Amino acid sequence: MKGIMSMNRLLSSEIRDDFPVLSRKVHGDCSLVYLDNAATSQKPACVIDAVSAYYRRTNANVHRGMHALAEEATGEYEAARRAVGALLGAPDPEGVIFTRGTTESINLVAQSWGGANLRAGDEILISVMEHHSNIVPWQLVAQRTGAVVKAVPLMPEGELDLEAMERLLSERTKMVSITQVSNALGTVNPVDVIIAKAKAAGAKVLIDGAQSAPHMPVDVKALGCDFFVCSAHKMCGPTGIGALIAPAGLLEGMPPFLGGGEMIDQVTIEASSWADLPYKFEAGTPNIAGAVGWGAAIAYLNDLGIEAIEQRVHERVEDAAARLEAEPGVTLTAHPRKRGGAVSFWLDGIHPHDVAQLVDQSGVAIRAGHVCCQPLMKHLGHPAINRASYSFYNTEEDTTRLLEALRTTRKLFGV
Ligand code: PMP
Repeated sequence: MKGIMSMNRLLSSEIRDDFPVLSRKVHGDCSLVYLDNAATSQKPACVIDAVSAYYRRTNANVHRGMHALAEEATGEYEAARRAVGALLGAPDPEGVIFTRGTTESINLVAQSWGGANLRAGDEILISVMEHHSNIVPWQLVAQRTGAVVKAVPLMPEGELDLEAMERLLSERTKMVSITQVSNALGTVNPVDVIIAKAKAAGAKVLIDGAQSAPHMPVDVKALGCDFFVCSAHKMCGPTGIGALIAPAGLLEGMPPFLGGGEMIDQVTIEASSWADLPYKFEAGTPNIAGAVGWGAAIAYLNDLGIEAIEQRVHERVEDAAARLEAEPGVTLTAHPRKRGGAVSFWLDGIHPHDVAQLVDQSGVAIRAGHVCCQPLMKHLGHPAINRASYSFYNTEEDTTRLLEALRTTRKLFGV
């Protein structure tokens, strides 16, 4: 019954009432059309309230104090960890590490696992569609160790070239780090196939789930990847918190990433020993309110149902892609077989920055630029794209408003 009610809520325009920001106006009297969800999602009132309530009622440092507030704060922080682990199918409860987000999680793996395991001549395989945060950390550790970063090329429709990937894999490949969903093209990559190929070559696999965890059911254990990373702020949660999920056995063998309070067992002036997982990787005071807010976001997403959310976003983005494709003067950047939340495009003859600025004048928020994917822009042969990215609270009317704003822009430019 609850599921059906949630589904009805998801399908109705009432869902938008959960998100205070969606009812605001911009540029005077324009109602907001928020199509920049791949950058960050909006937050429902229950998440905002959970963060506020935490600061109003509970605020204390975790795992240290022996008083009521410290115990409550620790309880809420650890409950959030369990919620993240349950949502994403973590292989071990202590293998859910809170970080600042996807970027920090990848840096943690690159520096800790990579620093300990990569040698000169070893190869790290990424892809041409990766976000900079799944490129630069590998370059940094490659410089340190003498390893080499290689990239799987793309097919014309915006899919990974899996045959080329096969050819690039060898006994030198020690790490394969690939996104599950492209933030720029919208492509959903067949990560099960990628993981199987990488494992057959004896490599470790990291899956960048920044764009998949918000809209798709994810089961890290069933996927069988070594590392899975994501950010709360794209999943209706707060900024400044995310996770690294990995089997405990793998994390136990890795050296710490950051040193400081919380991550130690014993400290002398000469040397230190480390706390057990997950604390070994959580140096310093963590983002406790962020964790509490993420926990509330996960409860909210679970209530709506992740499968229902996936279906909703899929319908919205497929409809948007079809209508953009049919629109004169619009060229889509990719035609992937399966799309995540994003559809990106060019308006012929108008720079993407001009497009984003002009549609913003009608209240429509889209992204313009390289979207943190400069190697992909080089592949596309354009320095920038426009991107509309959807969440379950976007409506068909949002796409209509985007199309109207694009028509106005073309008229202004006389193209
Ligand atoms: N990977 C992908 C695919 C992303 O879309 C993003 C965010 N745009 C990131 C990594 C980085 O996430 P964050 O900025 O939250 O660390």
